[in-house]
Amino acid sequence: MPRYDFRCRSCGATFELRRTMARANDPAVCPDGHPDTVKLLSTVAVTGAASGGAATAPAPSGGGGCCGGGCCG
Ligand SMILES: [Zn+2]
Repeated sequence: MPRYDFRCRSCGATFELRRTMARANDPAVCPDGHPDTVKLLSTVAVTGAASGGAATAPAPSGGGGCCGGGCCG
């Protein structure tokens, strides 16, 4: 069951609810009882979601480098 993050606009608290996708847009009530909440875009387990980590930049290897073509030596 996917998780949905909500944020209370009354007290600023964020909370999670687990509900079916059919009820994803149902209004959520803050744990403190405030009905004025908004649904946040959370990272549900979908394909293509990258979570943190250092991006590995492709290192140039040969092919036009300064020391590869004999221009500096
Ligand atoms: Zn609240």
